[in-house]
Amino acid sequence: MTRMTGSPAWRERPALHQSERMPVLFLGHGSPMNAIEDNAYRRSWQALGEQFGSRWPLPQLIVCVSAHWLTQGWWLTAMAQPRTIHDFVGFPAALFDLQYPAPGFPQAAEQIRALFHDPGGGEKLSLDRQAWGLDHGTWSVLAPMFPKANIAVIQLSMDYDRAPADHFAFGRQLRALRELGVLLVASGNMVHNLQALKMDAATDTAYDWALEFDTTTACHIEQGDFGALQNFQGLGRVAQQAHPSHEHFLPLLYAVGALDAGEAPEFFNLGFQAASISMRSVLWA
Ligand code: ZN
Repeated sequence: MTRMTGSPAWRERPALHQSERMPVLFLGHGSPMNAIEDNAYRRSWQALGEQFGSRWPLPQLIVCVSAHWLTQGWWLTAMAQPRTIHDFVGFPAALFDLQYPAPGFPQAAEQIRALFHDPGGGEKLSLDRQAWGLDHGTWSVLAPMFPKANIAVIQLSMDYDRAPADHFAFGRQLRALRELGVLLVASGNMVHNLQALKMDAATDTAYDWALEFDTTTACHIEQGDFGALQNFQGLGRVAQQAHPSHEHFLPLLYAVGALDAGEAPEFFNLGFQAASISMRSVLWA
């Protein structure tokens, strides 16, 4: 066998191999209780998961960008067995008891790192071999989708100090992974204001500003206007109310960054939790 000089080791022994193009998902995760409570959101995650193995191949790997892992620089989990992180307080014991024992895929993490560069020209993507794991942004949606927990999962962090354009640019680089059997899951919420929660609100009611931001964002997605999505803060007061902090919005920029031109969105899980959290989710297939 001829050895190509300078070729990264993974080119000769790829962890991930060529596949048909996998879909991209933006999932509104909402309350962690959605992981165990029977409701329409959870049922649609279950139904979606069941389509892998027929409509699409089973993923070789799931890469999840969660709103709940913010770092300096970008990191990928690279441990063989990521732990289940219960990163919340005040929920029932049943939620703390939930384990999502999906394996990691250290070799694929190396392969992905070799593909990336920092859009800001700084350090490369770093590998986390012990600190993080799978937080509830990841397992609350994957446990209903893939209850057997037998598909490898890697989490990608977000560098919260970066501008929206950098997150989008990073998402652009995720695009190549779709043809390596990787299912990209961006987990956040299109509207997310925890200070304004109205716990008794019905799923079809929301604040005016929440409806406005949700509808406007959906329009931009529909039109493929990713510049407008990166400029979401340009919506001023409505954006401030929809995202007092914007970590739940940013995963959307990774999802749209990973699209090819002209891919049409399919919206689902339209509705709100507690009037201030939009569960609107998007599938691009
Ligand atoms: Zn969250």
